[in-house]
Amino acid sequence: MKKLSPTEFSHLREKTRLVLAGRDPADSYGFVNPPIVRGSTVIYPNTEDFLARKSRYTYGTQGNPTIDALVAALNTMEGGAGVLVCSSGLMACTLPLLATLSAGDHLLVTDSVYRPQRNFCDKMLPKLGISVDYYDPAIGADIASLFKPNTRAVWTEAPGSQTFEMQDIPAIAAACHARDILVMMDNTWATPLFFDSHKAGVDISVQAGTKYYAGHSDVLIGTVSARTPELYAKLKEAWSLLGIIIAPEDAFLTLRGIRTMQIRLKEQMPAGIAMAQWLEARPEVARVLHPALPSDPGHALWKRDFTGASSLFAIELQPAPMKAAAAMLDGLSLFGMGASWGGYESLALPFDCAPYRTATVPDFKGPTIRLHIGLEDIEDLKADLDAGFARFRAAM
Ligand SMILES: *Cc1c(COP(=O)(O)O)cnc(C)c1O
Repeated sequence: MKKLSPTEFSHLREKTRLVLAGRDPADSYGFVNPPIVRGSTVIYPNTEDFLARKSRYTYGTQGNPTIDALVAALNTMEGGAGVLVCSSGLMACTLPLLATLSAGDHLLVTDSVYRPQRNFCDKMLPKLGISVDYYDPAIGADIASLFKPNTRAVWTEAPGSQTFEMQDIPAIAAACHARDILVMMDNTWATPLFFDSHKAGVDISVQAGTKYYAGHSDVLIGTVSARTPELYAKLKEAWSLLGIIIAPEDAFLTLRGIRTMQIRLKEQMPAGIAMAQWLEARPEVARVLHPALPSDPGHALWKRDFTGASSLFAIELQPAPMKAAAAMLDGLSLFGMGASWGGYESLALPFDCAPYRTATVPDFKGPTIRLHIGLEDIEDLKADLDAGFARFRAAM
């Protein structure tokens, strides 16, 4: 095999780059995949080199060849200045805030944010002297009306966790950049394959790689991509200071997941949309929250900015007691009930966002359920839900 130059590589299409990135059989004894390199201690040849830390790798917490192979593939997808990997999606959400904010700073966070990130903002940031306000995810360019002299960053997530509101990311980014405010985004739902967040102006883009990257519900991992070399250096310094390292096995498994992510998403996207449409036509369903549906309030933004959809969305059932929703959910045999998503298997869980939302409380009259559509045959999934709806009606 002839080795491509970095320029030749960069001219390849994304699908091809995802297959090639981060591996060189010449470095792997000829094997296709990079090896899993385990290690804490790195041995130096002599005193001079040790004192100068003159070595490609200096110590296990500061980098590792298996992790670098994963990072090469991630850089290919994100198209930013550099990616750092963290031990969970949550750590990838909190690292950008720890790296860029200081005492006295103000942060704006979408009210639809992933809930554990909200917990971090409410419980950890005040201890560091950083104040937080939550805003309506639909705010768009009006975000500027919430800027204070000390506003340093705006956190976005589109579509939002559980409630799936779209956000006008380019408008928010334009408003922020006019004031030198950083734009951060949790882009886990679309992945970089369906939303080029840096191109839309996002300075720091986060992925819970636990979801579609790993893709098999067997790894916890997070990734943080910086748009500029300056921001990358800042994130990398915090990453290094905090000792956020991942196990090389997890890097290997995530890289393995990324090789097939586009075909999984290609299967799961239409399955998710078909299921959302089927649910929209059901009398038991009051509303489907999925931005790829023309009926969704976020559809125009989704269509303008995103090139695809993942298979996570939610439904609001007709008004009924929770026990009716529980009767539906508890008898499902193909949908597991559990947090996380992005694996090959379908999931269903009840949620209630009313107790914690502060800027905008969605007006749900019936129980709300989040669904993740996996790689099962959609007709089997529909039959499972159909029987569930019969239990729901009987328990109403
Ligand atoms: C799951 C999730 C995270 C956190 O990922 P973990 O690896 O589970 O910590 C962050 N953001 C979103 C939108 C998620 O769905």
